[in-house]
Amino acid sequence: MAKMQAVAKLRPEPGMELIQADVPQPGPRDVLVKVKATSICGTDVHIYKWDRWSQNRIRPPLTIGHEFAGEIIAVGEQVRPDEPGVGDFVSAESHIVCGVCQQCKLGQAHVCQNTRIIGVDVDGCYAEYVVIPVENAWKNPLDMPLQVASLQENFGNSVHTVSAVDVRAKTVLVTGCGPAGLMTIPVARAFGAELIVVSDLSPYRLALARKVGADLALNPAEDDVIARAQDSVRGKGFDVLLEMSGAPAALVQGLSLLKSGAEAALLGLAPGALDNFNLNDLVIMKGVTVHGIAGRRLWETWYQMRALLSSGAVDLKPIITHEFPLSRWHEAMETMASGQSGKIVMYPGE
Ligand code: NAD
Ligand code: ZN
Repeated sequence: MAKMQAVAKLRPEPGMELIQADVPQPGPRDVLVKVKATSICGTDVHIYKWDRWSQNRIRPPLTIGHEFAGEIIAVGEQVRPDEPGVGDFVSAESHIVCGVCQQCKLGQAHVCQNTRIIGVDVDGCYAEYVVIPVENAWKNPLDMPLQVASLQENFGNSVHTVSAVDVRAKTVLVTGCGPAGLMTIPVARAFGAELIVVSDLSPYRLALARKVGADLALNPAEDDVIARAQDSVRGKGFDVLLEMSGAPAALVQGLSLLKSGAEAALLGLAPGALDNFNLNDLVIMKGVTVHGIAGRRLWETWYQMRALLSSGAVDLKPIITHEFPLSRWHEAMETMASGQSGKIVMYPGE
């Protein structure tokens, strides 16, 4: 059987390994993709470090990775001619959904009850080849830069977050400028936000946030965030919060900076249950509408991404700060874990 380079979690412990794996074979409704670029998600770092979530979810051996772009080189016998096929330049939705649960049937497949995730529940794309269900393949425009194509799955989280709320001519606060938060900035701008104020603990990421269009970038470790953010909106509070950090402190700060009647979209995942969270004051009595954001809307978010990228309304290139051959995955993972990066793209076969 043909072999390929892959980065896999082989044992239930911290770390990963570069291995020679069998090239996977597509099932009847699958496509085989030659991976040309794959980008690192925070989830991959969690799996690498083997945090509590990974220990409960990941069943080694498993090839990691779920953000990629590549070319279809083979299809299963039940893939129809009008579906993505050999030669197509594709990326993928990482959520493999069932199509039959109530949520799927109601057009809410992003919260499918039976979701399996590429690189989490089934072998992923930190490899020269990956097999995915044809339903998960998304055809990219041929002129889309490879690096940008590879990170669309992650970009979709940000697009979904911004489009869940109305940012048009509104004041927007973004808490957390990791890749997810950074990517909301040009999207909120493209959708017509009046003012975008962001916060993060990392000076590196705050500088990137300014570069991609934040009007004011604040560091809770150095600045009086409440006072300075309120100054920027003449003490009136913000119309919209996009919570992109998962830090309970950022959530509380963000909600307390909202005006009454505002909207909040929450993407960041807190490390656990929240202690001492004042729901009455922060949400209920202010009449705040809260949207929980999971994954991407299938497939509305993907069409929105295509439009934002193809029209030039959003340029993700400045957010891609590092590129590595897949063989240097360890350095890439450590760079991502350091917080001194935006998105990182790796190239298999190098
Ligand atoms: P990340 O860890 O790279 O970024 C989080 C950022 O928040 C970091 O830059 C950190 O410095 C910053 N931060 C920490 N404490 C802060 C505070 N008090 N105030 C302001 N900023 C603070 O993560 P990411 O890849 O950008 O993802 C963002 C969040 O979204 C994570 O919690 C991730 O788990 C979650 N996520 C959720 C979904 C979903 O479907 N809901 C999908 C992908 C990621
Ligand atoms: Zn389902």
